[in-house]
Amino acid sequence: MPTYPDRIIVIGAGPVGLVLSLALAQADQKVCLVEALGAHNFLEQVPRAGTNHPATLEMLDRVGLYRRLEPRGIIAPVFHYWDRHEGRLIAAFDHSVLKNDTRFPYVLQCERIKIVEEALAMAKAHPNIDLHLSTEFVAFAQDGDGVKAQVIDPTGEKQTIEGRYIVSGEGARSIIRKELGIAFEGFTYDDRTLNVEVAYDFTKHGYAHRNYISDPTEWSNLFHWKGPPDRWRVHFPTDPKADESELTRPEALQARLQGFLPTGKPFDIVGSNLYVVHQRVAQKFRVGRAILAGDSAHVNSPIGAMGMNSGIHDAINLADKLIAIGRREADDGALGRYARQRRHVAVAHTQAQTIRNKRLLAEQDPAVRKRNHDELRRAAEDPELARKFLLRTALFDSLREADAIA
Ligand SMILES: Cc1cc2nc3c(=O)[nH]c(=O)nc-3n(C[C@H](O)[C@H](O)[C@H](O)COP(=O)(O)OP(=O)(O)OC[C@H]3O[C@@H](n4cnc5c(N)ncnc54)[C@H](O)[C@@H]3O)c2cc1C
Repeated sequence: MPTYPDRIIVIGAGPVGLVLSLALAQADQKVCLVEALGAHNFLEQVPRAGTNHPATLEMLDRVGLYRRLEPRGIIAPVFHYWDRHEGRLIAAFDHSVLKNDTRFPYVLQCERIKIVEEALAMAKAHPNIDLHLSTEFVAFAQDGDGVKAQVIDPTGEKQTIEGRYIVSGEGARSIIRKELGIAFEGFTYDDRTLNVEVAYDFTKHGYAHRNYISDPTEWSNLFHWKGPPDRWRVHFPTDPKADESELTRPEALQARLQGFLPTGKPFDIVGSNLYVVHQRVAQKFRVGRAILAGDSAHVNSPIGAMGMNSGIHDAINLADKLIAIGRREADDGALGRYARQRRHVAVAHTQAQTIRNKRLLAEQDPAVRKRNHDELRRAAEDPELARKFLLRTALFDSLREADAIA
């Protein structure tokens, strides 16, 4: 019977792979972390997630990341829903109603790239993490005792890495998910989302650091990121038939921003990108010793900031199970519970909520729009309703429900 080294192979140094690796390493578990990007291009990744919910901040604090991220982010207790059609604020939700529920009654606006930069520095310094940058994972095999991962090392040579378990933190294109033949069930929206990065102070116009803006023709999200210099990110839906080069032409971007907020002066646009939005959940989160977490297991629209957050929740849940197995306090059955808990969250919370969020912002029917907006207003103005709303949208309810799953 072959003996495998007592370590966990984690593929992908995104926020999920890194948080998982740190949590495992800090509990004396050996980790081999494999990342295709190298030191030379690790920070050249396109802008992505960045709103960190309170429950996620508790987890980032547990692995020692929160104190490194807080100075690089914006503490945002309040977020807004706006009605662009009528040009007015619908509702302002204040996380301070959660002050008895969490040590962090606010979100931290701190982009994914800062999280991975700080987490990678911690991973490099941790003696229990064997980090392989510029190393591409290509295939794997497993038996009853362990796994063998095939990688291409920085010199282009094929290598085999062995361990007890393998975790896919590879993101949406997970090779592990595909090799296991696991269906990625769900759908893809026709309209791509246009992200425009702007240097402009939107707070002058009454906006919060985080805003969801409803409009029957052009909904938006508007987020503030700490600099220097500070940046704002504006999301717009786009015509599915439009050409990418046309949508991202400087004049087209200026016209869109002026349509959103007519200042009469050109905006200082510092970047833009277009992305496709999927709503998909893997049919299984685990087969034997191979486990999916984060985007490899579920992807969703960014409206509501749930992708990275729920991925980090996967990482912490999984870390606890693997630590218990490593200490002989649990058997492999714990991984089945991870899969049941986190798949339930992905389907019943993350998918359901983000689909609802998009529908809410894009609603066409004036009567339904009015009813939705009245409900939001009522919830924001009543502290008990606001607390209930935030416990759901900030994913606390999802964690409580998952805890109850055997
Ligand atoms: C354009 C865009 C915008 C988004 N905006 C938001 C948002 O506003 N809010 C939100 O919550 N979420 C958003 N998301 C989703 C969010 O970024 C993800 O949920 C989050 O990054 C998932 O983290 P992850 O660690 O699972 O995967 P990823 O962040 O995708 O990281 C995967 C890592 O694995 C590495 N990797 C992949 N394949 C291999 C391989 N074969 N070998 C070795 N390494 C490999 C990659 O290089 C990468 O470092 C957005 C996503 C995209 C694409």
